Amino acid sequence: MTTTSKNDQLFERAQKTTPGGVNSPVRAFRSVGGTPRFITRAEGPYFWDADGKRYIDYIGSWGPAIVGHAHPTVVKAVQDAATRGLSFGAPTEGEIEMAEEIVRLVPSIEQVRLVSSGTEATMSALRLARGATGRDKIVKFEGCYHGHADSLLVKAGSGLLTFGNPTSAGVPEDFVKHTLVLDYNNVAQIEEAFANFGSEIACVIVEPVAGNMNLIKANEDFLKALRELCTKHGALLIFDEVMCGFRVALGGAQELYGIQPDLTALGKVIGGGLPVAAFGGSTALMSKMSPVGAVYQAGTLSGNPVAVAAGMTTLKLIQEPGFYDKLSATAKRLADGLTAAAKEAGIPFCADSVGGMFGLYFSETPPNNYAEMMAGNRERFNVFFHAMLDEGVYFAPAAFEAGFVSAQHSDEVIDETIAAARRVFAKL
Ligand code: PMP
Repeated sequence: MTTTSKNDQLFERAQKTTPGGVNSPVRAFRSVGGTPRFITRAEGPYFWDADGKRYIDYIGSWGPAIVGHAHPTVVKAVQDAATRGLSFGAPTEGEIEMAEEIVRLVPSIEQVRLVSSGTEATMSALRLARGATGRDKIVKFEGCYHGHADSLLVKAGSGLLTFGNPTSAGVPEDFVKHTLVLDYNNVAQIEEAFANFGSEIACVIVEPVAGNMNLIKANEDFLKALRELCTKHGALLIFDEVMCGFRVALGGAQELYGIQPDLTALGKVIGGGLPVAAFGGSTALMSKMSPVGAVYQAGTLSGNPVAVAAGMTTLKLIQEPGFYDKLSATAKRLADGLTAAAKEAGIPFCADSVGGMFGLYFSETPPNNYAEMMAGNRERFNVFFHAMLDEGVYFAPAAFEAGFVSAQHSDEVIDETIAAARRVFAKL
């Protein structure tokens, strides 16, 4: 495990004024140990830490950096927008353009509301689902992360059809007693849940490609069952595409699987690195939002002009011909190359990818749900992570996270990564 002097100094200093020294927990390297790298700048597929060490970056700001860091066209759009004023608290034409673009690109969305974080998007979608159905109960799946709204910070109860327990201090039992937590990719469980509580369930929220318990793809029959059961029982299906939206395909997972959710939460890519997120659905549903309808939601910086400029420019760039073919090929090249390198060294390992997202697993086969993911060899991941960091490759600092490639990750960059992994696997 390496420690690097300037990063160490900054980490020590940060911890005096910020809890754990970071503004979002996963950045603290708690899971893998060691000192987090403090980043000074980023360009294309790389970023540099406080000691001037360069890393090939495979988190891409946890998804947003799909066109590569500091893309000149995005930077220029942000600079131009900034010179016209940073925030108005009154509507702009840019917000209309952004909404029109999202509506055009995401199959199930007719109307959309812009917010500033994925947490706000899912939280608001949930409130809308409850408001629209007049029901309280919600269903989520273990290992899916939907931001940190109270009713979503829940782990499974002790039995299949018992309601959940808070995963965070400060979340009242009362808030989560309406949240049922089931296993991902388990059709029998969701059927049972609807058989028992069908008329009380407001919505089912799911990451249709899960990226917060490493990468786990939903089985097609699982998503189909969710769609059919929700329709049958008058519940709403919410796709949380904050991570997989504009990442696994231009139209997101709903385009990839050909399944229409009632509501979709978006984030990350649509801000291109600045705070933009959104939720949307049919006009009939979205008309229940304030100021037209009775479901309240608001934001001082919602649709911020500088953020929207970054997002809109990113949405244009990802529509260039062949963008997703290349992005998918890049992630697949990495996954296949790492798998082959591990095999040469006799390490039980596999990798998978969907669009520009990938998963690395220290197990023989990719996991299908949270429990299978937790059974992987996390100690080995941690050693791998630090050895790769020494080699100048920055993977997500936890075994339960997905990875991301950008359009700037060239074949050479991928091959450099695989060569580094070959050296590391040989020593594991
Ligand atoms: N939903 C999903 C699927 C996410 O991956 C995340 C963030 N990783 C969120 C919601 C929350 O987004 P934010 O961090 O912008 O609040």
